[in-house]
Amino acid sequence: MRELTTLAKYPFLSDTRQYIKENGPSVDELLHDLPYERARIIGIERLDNAFKNRDVGERSLANESDCIMEILSYPLARMVAVCIGDSYFKKRYALGEAYHVYKQLLNESTSFLLAVAQELNVNVQHNPEKNTIKIFFKDYLHNAPTRYREWIHNAPTRYREWKMVNRGISGGFLTISHKDLARILLESLRERINEELLTRECDKSVYDTFSSDIQRFQNLLTMQKKKIEAAPVGKVSIEKLPPCMKDILSAIQSGENVPHMGRFSLVAFLSSLKLSTNEILKLFSSAPDYQEDKTRYQVEHITGASSSTEYKCPGCEKMRTYGICPVDKMDDVCKKVRHPLSYYSNKWKQEKQK
Ligand code: SF4
Repeated sequence: MRELTTLAKYPFLSDTRQYIKENGPSVDELLHDLPYERARIIGIERLDNAFKNRDVGERSLANESDCIMEILSYPLARMVAVCIGDSYFKKRYALGEAYHVYKQLLNESTSFLLAVAQELNVNVQHNPEKNTIKIFFKDYLHNAPTRYREWIHNAPTRYREWKMVNRGISGGFLTISHKDLARILLESLRERINEELLTRECDKSVYDTFSSDIQRFQNLLTMQKKKIEAAPVGKVSIEKLPPCMKDILSAIQSGENVPHMGRFSLVAFLSSLKLSTNEILKLFSSAPDYQEDKTRYQVEHITGASSSTEYKCPGCEKMRTYGICPVDKMDDVCKKVRHPLSYYSNKWKQEKQK
């Protein structure tokens, strides 16, 4: 069993679950007994921080009691997140947990990262003599920050790091750095937590104990959604966007790791509607490791501001091939058009005719 501080810093580990099973209170005690009041407060703090700052936040782990409260706050936060019953919130919380872990992993030893990778079923190998880390290409493709995967053909060296060809692939394994591995584990953990939250049911006793906080979060979400729906993206009318672009936009705004083609299509689409680079950048700023200079480079490359080519948004057929046309959300206008831009102008025409 690992040290208590490690369990508190990494509450998703199987060792932490085992610790709670062997030493923790029952769910009923956790929800109602006075000694666990602090864990309940921290549980809500995790959710608040994840929602507002995309990071569940750091607390003192100076003594045993601090560590135990931190450990117990994790299942509490998860149970409350389930009861809030909103997939956007669950994604946001999963990202907050995973991002906090990422920041801590940057300061851990490579052997610790390898152990975490094993828990998350990420296939990595370490050669201690050469101090190299290698990852199986499928795990790399699944978890690498996809916006760097294929975007850039002529980019300066510092922007090319996530391109597969620059990784020295051999026998199906690619070479990555300690920091890259931490970033890959962030994505893997985010996905795992999110999937777990989506499959759990709300427990009535959890709902009853935290009903005022749950309602507060639900109100915040309603307000935020109204704000997003009402907020214009530059001169673009959100409500006239085709379902494909709405989906990509909402995934970016909830901090999801959107596939390369999704980002590419959205940038090219918005650029055709004459949105400026700064207006487009604003949309990307909620990504977990958003870096303005990198994203600006990528956006300017697509829009033609920094290259000789202005890329065009793909048509509906290609969007379907790339798996980014949400077929279940296609409406009557979708059935008439062959390009997302035609959808948008069709919607404007419809409005004028009213
Ligand atoms: S049919 Fe075309 S416009 Fe409609 S959602 Fe699919 S890709 Fe977008």
